[in-house]
Amino acid sequence: MSLLEIKDLRVTYGSGAAAVPAVRGVDLTVGSGQKLGIAGESGCGKSTLALALLRLLPASATLSGEILLDGEDVLTMKWGRLRAVRWAGASIVFQGAMHSLNAVHRIGDQIAEPLLVHHQASPAAARKRACELLEQVGLPAGRANAYPHELSGGQRQRVMIAMALACGPQVIVADEPTTALDVMIQAQILRLIEQLVADQDISLLMISHDLAVLADTCDRLAVMYAGRVVEEGPAQEVFTAAAHPYSRALSGAFPRIGDPASRRAPRGLPGDPPDPASLPAGCTFHPRCTVAVDACATRDQALRDAGPGRQAACLLVEPGAGTPSQHGTEEARSTS
Ligand code: ADP
Ligand code: MG
Repeated sequence: MSLLEIKDLRVTYGSGAAAVPAVRGVDLTVGSGQKLGIAGESGCGKSTLALALLRLLPASATLSGEILLDGEDVLTMKWGRLRAVRWAGASIVFQGAMHSLNAVHRIGDQIAEPLLVHHQASPAAARKRACELLEQVGLPAGRANAYPHELSGGQRQRVMIAMALACGPQVIVADEPTTALDVMIQAQILRLIEQLVADQDISLLMISHDLAVLADTCDRLAVMYAGRVVEEGPAQEVFTAAAHPYSRALSGAFPRIGDPASRRAPRGLPGDPPDPASLPAGCTFHPRCTVAVDACATRDQALRDAGPGRQAACLLVEPGAGTPSQHGTEEARSTS
């Protein structure tokens, strides 16, 4: 059994004519100690998926499917159990730590709080542990007395990571943990996360719009488009030899960590992801796809075999062959 199993997860914001289907049937698994990256442009449903994992979505969201954490479905947990799981089972590191830290409390107290609440630690023990956690994330214990505004962006993100580690979670969900940081600091924070999850055998689900960052950090990669996973496989293979045209565009768009151009929109990929409230028929990517054939406009694509341990939702992917050909497969030609 995998530590985290997401089965046919669907999340819709609002209802009726205004419904926004942000996640539309996602299946993913993360093994114990495994690092899964989730990539995709803004609006593809990545954060919605992350928030769903700990049931942190607004009340306007309806969910279905299963999110099994160590075999227990997060979606049907009672509140008391959910509260415990939110720190000790799985914890989240968000983008832009300034918004998640409380400006009027010292950071040591903020790190200690979950230990007091969830571990019934004594104030002195919680304080001591907060200092240890600060040191683990590369900050001097003396910084425990600092307020968030006294720290740099990178230091604040280190504090967020310390908070996420506080109760010894089995899995950390990191949603764009370095996007707000400059490139040098970004690399440092990624190395820190990598080292901590490896040392403490924590599973990692890391979300980024930047495929290069994920390929560097994660074992496996899932690429999301319009609320679905369109490709999934070993991280380096998905990054260097993507099977889905969308993943190929993303990997071409983000050549390297440390390259300032990598912050811009995907190169050679025109337009924007579709509005979830009005998705195109057929493959949702077909209007932007440079290799689409006629059938792509009418046939919705499910994930299919794209080589050992790989799947891609593209009509042009030859089962087991990895990269789609320019000319399409026999199947695509005969149906287009
Ligand atoms: P990503 O993290 O990949 O950028 P999100 O999960 O934030 O994507 O958003 C997916 C879609 O859901 C977007 O179209 C977004 O506008 C919409 N969305 C996100 N949050 C809400 C909300 N609270 N209410 C309504 N729509 C939302
Ligand atoms: Mg997001």
